[in-house]
Amino acid sequence: MGRDQVSSVDCILVVNSGSSSLKFAIYAIENREILCRGSIDWSINADEHTLVLKSNRNAGTSVAGSSIIARDTRMAVDVTSHGDAVRVAIRTMTEWMQVQFAIGIKVIAVGHRIVHGGTHFTKSVLVDSSVRKAILDLAPMAPLHNPSAHEAIVAAETSLPGIPQVAVFDTAFFATLPEKSFVYPLPYEWYSEWGIRRFGFHGISHAYCAVRATEILGRGYEGLRLVVCHLGNGCSASAIAGGRPIATSMGFTPLDGLVMGTRPGSIDPGIMVAAVREHGLSMDAVDQVMNRGSGLLGISGISSDVKKLEIAAAAGNLRAGLALAIFCDRVRSTIGGLAVTLGGVDAVVFTAGIGENSSQQRATICHGLNCIGLHLDDHLNTTAKPDVDIATQLSPARILVIETQEDLMIAREVSQIVTKPLPP
Ligand code: ADP
Repeated sequence: MGRDQVSSVDCILVVNSGSSSLKFAIYAIENREILCRGSIDWSINADEHTLVLKSNRNAGTSVAGSSIIARDTRMAVDVTSHGDAVRVAIRTMTEWMQVQFAIGIKVIAVGHRIVHGGTHFTKSVLVDSSVRKAILDLAPMAPLHNPSAHEAIVAAETSLPGIPQVAVFDTAFFATLPEKSFVYPLPYEWYSEWGIRRFGFHGISHAYCAVRATEILGRGYEGLRLVVCHLGNGCSASAIAGGRPIATSMGFTPLDGLVMGTRPGSIDPGIMVAAVREHGLSMDAVDQVMNRGSGLLGISGISSDVKKLEIAAAAGNLRAGLALAIFCDRVRSTIGGLAVTLGGVDAVVFTAGIGENSSQQRATICHGLNCIGLHLDDHLNTTAKPDVDIATQLSPARILVIETQEDLMIAREVSQIVTKPLPP
């Protein structure tokens, strides 16, 4: 097909709004794959406001007669809000696909990742004015994310009038947690009257990894006991039995559970009382420290970034080494706890930036997990390219490294809502 002949492909636009960033992707409905991904960053740390576009290297098939090959693009953009970002993303990606691959993008639906759906949203929904309002009402529980997602929805509705918008919630996967897993050991009225309970987050990633694990293991959900470890800047682990989560490390907010880049995970709540009462911190200051000044950054004093900490630790920085040791210890003991909750484990999944890329942290975490049947193959671990099984051949349980694809999971959800259900 010549460059001037443009065929049109029905697509879903996936939008994931961070605090000062927007990730987006285009999913071709017919081929059921992500064609390209992009991101825009306008945070104060970004050198300039940049837009990055990448074709999906894993998209092996041809769309509309064009082979999808990687021709990544980076450009400076004038973006200062989620509204700007959505408009720029739609325009730039549409033009890029047309010029690079002679593909006309026809967006037939938009899927938005919403971090907090509270107890209100237990599955993905078409957005209307009441859904928009509910997302905003939940903003106090996800102040960095829900307002941004709301702004992105409004911008997408304006840029693509009449096109259905679907909200896909990070909390929805955990909506079926058993009561004993979501009620905190606090006065029961805090739950029944104030709504304080465990919600769980990263659900889209945990759900994707569970599906992908069945594909890699070549078996269905029946009887399958999985522990999924999502280890990125935010970290969480979940126990999944027969495809349903039965426990998760994140809680009422995304502060709970594992040690993270800048968040502490589970700590003695008395520490917060002491910080306020004995050391004079305001609640706002404590909130700031818990969200932005703790975890790997807090311990090491140099970075929240595992890659940088690995280099610093190798060069002899003791606090960098200590931060990584504490991080791995917490992941290891959480895997152990979740495995016991499941009554045994068939596979542990490592995913997200650290889980997918750091063989060193995977090795430290897995050290000592032989006792629950997880035997790491050191060579496979060192050379791992996701998606891959890195357990020894004789290991009773498998250790999987899976590239999380939240955008693909969101697109599948949207597709099920706006078109007829996809065959499995
Ligand atoms: P987010 O939660 O913001 O999406 P990511 O999933 O991208 O974050 O994970 C970011 C983390 O992954 C950082 O700590 C980063 O250092 C770590 N990471 C990414 N690549 C590597 C690597 N090759 N080795 C070690 N750590 C890595």
